[in-house]
Amino acid sequence: MAKRIGLLGGTFDPVHIGHLRSAVEVAQALALDELRLIPSARPPHRSQPQASAAQRLAMAQLAVAGSALLRVDDRELKREKPSYSIDTLESLRAELAADDQLFLILGWDAFCGLPTWHRWQELLLHCHILVLQRPDADTEAADELRNLVAARSVSDPQALAGPGGQIAFIWQTPLAVSATQIRALIAQAKSAQFLVPDAVLAYIHAHGLYRGAN
Ligand code: ATP
Repeated sequence: MAKRIGLLGGTFDPVHIGHLRSAVEVAQALALDELRLIPSARPPHRSQPQASAAQRLAMAQLAVAGSALLRVDDRELKREKPSYSIDTLESLRAELAADDQLFLILGWDAFCGLPTWHRWQELLLHCHILVLQRPDADTEAADELRNLVAARSVSDPQALAGPGGQIAFIWQTPLAVSATQIRALIAQAKSAQFLVPDAVLAYIHAHGLYRGAN
């Protein structure tokens, strides 16, 4: 049987319930066999994560420890350099059966930025793209992206067929939680309880993370 695997990349500095609920909802809506959180190394020109790669990875692993559906894939942190998504997909594909289905999960804003990604036109050779649409999205997609959507989208995400090549949209109202907010709370010595799993909060405190300014 072909496996159905979702991929959610992010800095996860730290992972929080917004990521986790969204991941679970997508996994259930698409009847995925597993959904992998893929912590990213940050490119040098962007602001650096406050927690180290090892700490971000450890927190993500703690967060998914009780879940049968969610996993953590550390391949981007193992590389010397920040990974392009196309590299990550090629590396995943090399490990999977040809008919396994990959679903790259992107928020609408990230999707709108797709034409700036390295070798973006090759992404669909390896995966489907599942765009999380939020009701209040206001970014406009560029023409080249609209053409791609016209050519490749299916209206029902459950109808995505084959190993990759199609685009579908899924409506989801994200929880109003961000890693920025959590870092700010902890820097102000306020509680972040219930915004991250308890084990992640315990890790943050045990390692003295995010106590400085953001
Ligand atoms: P920061 O506040 O540091 O920018 P973040 O909370 O947005 O971080 P990221 O690690 O950048 O977290 O996000 C990883 C992925 O999760 C992105 O695709 C992002 O759109 C998505 N995401 C972030 N917050 C939420 C949320 N509350 N609900 C659903 N998805 C989210």
